[in-house]
Parts: sequence; structure tokens; C-alpha cells
Amino acid sequence: MDLRPSSSHIWTKCAAMPLMSSRVPPGDVGDPAREGTCAAWVAEMVLTGAVSTAADMVGQSHENGWLVEPDMAQHIQKYVDRVRSYGGEIHTERKVRLNQHIAGTPDAFAVLGSDHVLIVDDLKYGFGLVEPYQNPQVCIYAGAILRMLTARGVRVDRVVIGIYQPRAWSPAGIHRIWSCYPEELMSFVKTIEEAGNAAQNPNAPATPGAHCEYCDAAATCAANAAENYRVYERNASQQQRHMTVEELAKELDFLEMASDMLKGRKSAVEAEAAARMKRAETIPGWHMEQRAGQRRFTVPAATVRALTGLDPEVSKMVTPAELERMGASDAVVARITETPRTAPRLKKVAPGYYANLFKQR
Ligand code: SF4
Repeated sequence: MDLRPSSSHIWTKCAAMPLMSSRVPPGDVGDPAREGTCAAWVAEMVLTGAVSTAADMVGQSHENGWLVEPDMAQHIQKYVDRVRSYGGEIHTERKVRLNQHIAGTPDAFAVLGSDHVLIVDDLKYGFGLVEPYQNPQVCIYAGAILRMLTARGVRVDRVVIGIYQPRAWSPAGIHRIWSCYPEELMSFVKTIEEAGNAAQNPNAPATPGAHCEYCDAAATCAANAAENYRVYERNASQQQRHMTVEELAKELDFLEMASDMLKGRKSAVEAEAAARMKRAETIPGWHMEQRAGQRRFTVPAATVRALTGLDPEVSKMVTPAELERMGASDAVVARITETPRTAPRLKKVAPGYYANLFKQR
């Protein structure tokens, strides 16, 4: 069975996922996925030289219907500039194969000849933070490229795994990297390959967890349902006492896993119900309700002014992001803006987060 690197964060944790997902008919592609595909397309077009700049693509639509807007063009141009700044030989959207089951297409990679460094970057256009440390998807690409280069006698002393995520805020910045030795990378890649081999077993057990949130099979998976019911039972317990800090840490881990899993199951079951209603099935007690967006004018500003005597175009200061979109220099905007710190929020530390932050500085 072929395994997709983009879902490796699921099948490395649940060996049953590839087979179970393959039995689920494909559903509608959501807006975040369409937008991400469009952003990757713009990057590819510029990196391959099909167009000169991302701005040239504003107004064009990807075949999935997503329109390239100035905001996207600006983010992607900065990504392209970053990739090009590596120098060396840059490859983009080139299929690579790790083994007989696992193959995929990295967004971009560069081989710096004199420094013997392999850089593999992945563009993430969504808002859910993705970290580079032992990121299975990018490590699959890097492992495959490293094997290919080694077979050709190319020396690689260091591998840099990068995640470029322009729209989500992270204290480590929008371009986060994990720099490692080839041996370190390949020892992690070995664990991915072992998980990939386990997924070939038609009777592989399903292992529910936080990763279920993104699994296509969540609506039809009995293990996921059973785990969610267990979560309910645990939360319904009447026992009362203060927890130790170790118990608090474990409970936070548990609640995070439980809420991710429940979220995944809810959206998968809702998608299944919506699809069946479209096929004219009735789900007792549920219906599809028309929702309404924010009100908007259907006439130009001059008409609004004439009809109401009020000016609908009250001038107000643009945001820093809007000013950048209008063409202001990032450096100037950085000097005249600040990012206020809001109340701190409890957040789970990703494995290797501090080590990586330290390495980057
Ligand atoms: S829903 Fe969870 S347990 Fe079930 S197949 Fe998907 S990842 Fe595995």
C-alpha cells in the first residue's frame, strides 16, 4: 500500500489508518486545503520560472478554484526569496522515493555543494503550528533525498529541515529549522519506515490518539469511537482531590489528546452526516440549516451616501499588514510597529522546542 508523507503524522502512530482511510469515499476538499494547494502552486510557478514574481499571479485561480490574492502573493514571494537565498542547486516539486511504499514531493530542497548541507523546506500556509523537529513528512523527503545523494557519491555533512509558515505566529519565527547530522536524521527515518511496514499488515491494529483529529476514517473507526466513550467515562467520574504537579501534567496531556480526538470525530461524523443528507437520507433530529454571513452593501458608496446622507467610507488607519500589502518596506514597518504581548496561555511544549530555539540563536 502506498503511503503519503503528508499523512505520516497519522500512520506513524496508527498502523490501521492507511487501509481504513482508503475505504472511505473521498469527501469535499475543505477551504484550508484548497488555499494551501493554491499557495504551493504559486510558489512552484515562481520557483520554476514559469512566472517572474508571485504578484504576476494575482487574479489567477488554481484549478481547485482558489483565487490568488495580493496577500497570498506577498507571503509566497517572501518564501521564494528565502529559498533562493540559499544559493546552490534548488529543486522544487520534484518527486522523491524513500522506499517501495513511501514517496512524495517536497516543496523545495537545495544542496549546498561547498558546505555539504542539504536543506529541505516545506511551506505550510495554514494556521495550525507545525514544528520541524522530527517532522515525519519533511524527514521522509530529506531521508529520500539523502539516500539518492549518497548513492551518487555526494557528500552531505548536515541536514536542515525547515518549516516556512508565514501566517501563524510562533516565538521561533515564521521559518523554523531543525539542523541535524545525517545519521541522526536516518535513525529517525528508520522508525518511520518501520511504521510504514507495520501499516502494510491488513490486520494492523488501530491506535487512537490526538492524531485521529486529522484521520479521514474517524467517522467509521470503532477504535476511535470506543476511545471517545472511554474519555467520556473518565470525565464523568465523581472523584475529587487536588492533583500533584506530575498528575496535572499527565491530565493536561490527556485532555489535549481527548479534545483533539473528539474534535476529529465530530468533524468526521458531521461530514458523513452532511454527505448522506445530500444523498437524500434523513438523520433523525438533524437537518441542514442555512447560515448567514455578515451583511454587506449591494450598491456603491455613492448610492449609500445619496440614500442615507451618511458617508460609508469613513477613513481609518490601515493595519501594518495592509500597509505592507500596499508596498511599504517590511524593515520600515518593523521599526514603527510593535506586537503587544497578550495574556500568556498554557501550551504544550513540542519535543525539541527549546533545543531547537537555542540552536537557531
Ligand atoms: S480514527 Fe484514529 S484510530 Fe481510527 S484509523 Fe484513524 S487514526 Fe487510527
